[in-house]
Amino acid sequence: PYDVLIVGGGPAGAAAAIYAARKGIRTGVVSERFGGQVLDTLAIENFVSVKETEGPKFATALEQHVKSYEVDIMNVQLASELVPGKLIEIKLANGGSLKSKTVVLATGARWREINVPGEREYRNHGVAYCPHCDGPLFKGKRVAVIGGGNSGVEAAIDLAGLVSHVTLIEFGDELRADAVLQRKLHSLKNVTVITSAQTTEITGDSKKVNGLVYKDRKTDAVHKVELEGVFVQIGLVPNTEWLKGTIALSRHGEIEVDAKGQTSIPGVFAAGDVTTVPFKQIVIAVGEGAKASLSAFDHLIRSSVS
Ligand code: FAD
Repeated sequence: PYDVLIVGGGPAGAAAAIYAARKGIRTGVVSERFGGQVLDTLAIENFVSVKETEGPKFATALEQHVKSYEVDIMNVQLASELVPGKLIEIKLANGGSLKSKTVVLATGARWREINVPGEREYRNHGVAYCPHCDGPLFKGKRVAVIGGGNSGVEAAIDLAGLVSHVTLIEFGDELRADAVLQRKLHSLKNVTVITSAQTTEITGDSKKVNGLVYKDRKTDAVHKVELEGVFVQIGLVPNTEWLKGTIALSRHGEIEVDAKGQTSIPGVFAAGDVTTVPFKQIVIAVGEGAKASLSAFDHLIRSSVS
């Protein structure tokens, strides 16, 4: 069996692997796609100490760093079940099974897409999902935020300080964000809020975004907004479908962890975007991954399994 088996090969999983391997213990990483969300990212400008890089380049660096240690990397493997026990079992979709004394879950999350024409085509060319990451790219430009929940309204407030104008588009009849956020939003002069609006298309000039089309759900009238960027903020979905019923999850489906990354199952730790940790960022996922592995190591030296 492994001493530490990590499920997920994004920034959190890679950091967990490096920290475990450096303890000289048997370490494995099983991942569907090594690199994780970073592979879908263009520019990264907020990983502290790296002024600027690109997602695929960052992912390669993660993999090379992990490969410089004795770590079993099992790529293109989907975990389908976790079976708790003295030895924890991870069942794979291909029928295989792995056993380990401790497990670090780092399966990440995915942004919920709005699924309208233009979204995929202009991803990273005006269509963005992370205001902390991509906000500064739209400095002085016009953007829309789709989604009037807490994350959408927070994004609109954040972006209003950077861009020339923000149009917030909400599908329902009213915003769903906390009242304090709504008050702040309405106090901003360069924000327009449009409710009962269904986004039907993100338009572009074949290179980058130049507008957004929405339908007024009350009148069926179709409107176009000219702009340079669209932030889709309709939810982040944690990759925990395979863990439902096994481990304690929040009502958003995130794995509940304590300050040490411990989950509801002894010997099982979790890190990164898949957990309840606030703020989903690479630098945070990396720190959480390191922490989860150190906690796993701590668990190993205190437990009787040898
Ligand atoms: P992930 O990166 O999501 O990795 C999850 C890993 O788990 C992957 O290897 C995946 O294949 C694997 N996996 C999932 N389910 C299973 C399963 N059942 N079995 C096996 N493996 C599984 N953050 C920043 O800090 N700066 C940025 O500039 C930035 N830009 C972004 C741009 C975009 C377009 C996106 C989508 C995200 C961006 N982020 C950025 C956020 C950042 O990418 C995430 O916070 C970070 O990748 C989270 O790391 P993670 O390891 O927790 O999860």
